[in-house]
Amino acid sequence: MKILVLNSGSSSLKFDVWETSPSMIADSSDLLLAQGAVERVTNMEDALTSVFRKLHQMPVDAVGHRIVHGGDRYQTSVLIDDQVEAGINALSVLAPLHNPHNLAGVRAARRYLPGLPHVAVFDTAFHHTLPMHAYAYGLPWSYLTEKGIRRYGFHGISHRYVSWRFAEHHGRKRADYKLITCHLGNGCSVCAIEYGKSIDTSMGFTPLEGLLMGTRAGDVDAGAILHLIMHEQQAPADVLKLLNSQSGLRGLSGVSNDMRDVLAKAKTGDERATLAVETFCYRVRKYIGAYMAAMDGADALIFTGGIGENSAEIRARVCEKLGHIGIHLDKASNTANSREDRQIGKGPVEVWVVPTEEELLIARDTLRCILKIPHE
Ligand code: ADP
Repeated sequence: MKILVLNSGSSSLKFDVWETSPSMIADSSDLLLAQGAVERVTNMEDALTSVFRKLHQMPVDAVGHRIVHGGDRYQTSVLIDDQVEAGINALSVLAPLHNPHNLAGVRAARRYLPGLPHVAVFDTAFHHTLPMHAYAYGLPWSYLTEKGIRRYGFHGISHRYVSWRFAEHHGRKRADYKLITCHLGNGCSVCAIEYGKSIDTSMGFTPLEGLLMGTRAGDVDAGAILHLIMHEQQAPADVLKLLNSQSGLRGLSGVSNDMRDVLAKAKTGDERATLAVETFCYRVRKYIGAYMAAMDGADALIFTGGIGENSAEIRARVCEKLGHIGIHLDKASNTANSREDRQIGKGPVEVWVVPTEEELLIARDTLRCILKIPHE
């Protein structure tokens, strides 16, 4: 089956076309037929027209959509009908920077390709197994049960994909392992996966919580935010912008949101860039330690995302002080130039780099929804 995978953002529409089938999934022989993006999108239907122009009118059988927030309503990927579309819309209040754009893509694609099945694959769904003690904040009970103020977690598609790949390399099931997966890209999160289930992750109610990211602050005391609003008279909308797009590597270093630039500047001895890199690595290390505690150890630590896949230096700095918990990087394999899945530390906790392939997982889930076969 040929699946068009759409990832619609605030101003861009990324697309992949994958050929997949149950037997191709079984031996990992799914084929990427096309890939591209339309930038500076103002009208999603026009953008789709240019996608099909780029695809030379290649016929597809179904469409898989990446949706950032599924709340606690969507615990797995689902076929989209009007009710699901309304559900994604209702969740826009929880993810105002993402869901409205995802939804615009869904609406335009359903109008443009009305005869095809459309499937929603959620970034939150993999984390629906979080136990209550991991997703509850220490707020009054009604805020959890009535207002839905809780931790949801994101990047679930990536954490799920790389943990599945790790198990596949061992000829086993994800359910056989305790894994810590680090997705370090523009957005960054760590996930604790205990015997196949996500039991904790660093992002929370929104993708703002946890690690330091390209432009997002990660963990900040809520009191500091209140201070800015109440005593510094900053408007909530400005604070939202501050935390989402002016903070993180960019804000601390004053250089860039791109780790390559920040590392280069740090090498010149720049104090702020050095601090940004150290804060970034320190936070990842702290979460790894926390998740070792949460799971009473781990079988493997997996790096993915643009930074996790490409920066031997960041991986080495993250793992620097983790020897006492069984994490030892092999210097030669860590620095080897490769784009493949690879082991970079022997143990007792194996360390791996697994390039993420979120679009492939979206294509596979789309197929599984249509054929009504269980999700892995
Ligand atoms: P997104 O989260 O938007 O999908 P990616 O996962 O592609 O982004 O990660 C993009 C980030 O990866 C860039 O901003 C850059 O910081 C980082 N990156 C890519 N290559 C390298 C590298 N060789 N060294 C350090 N960082 C890198």
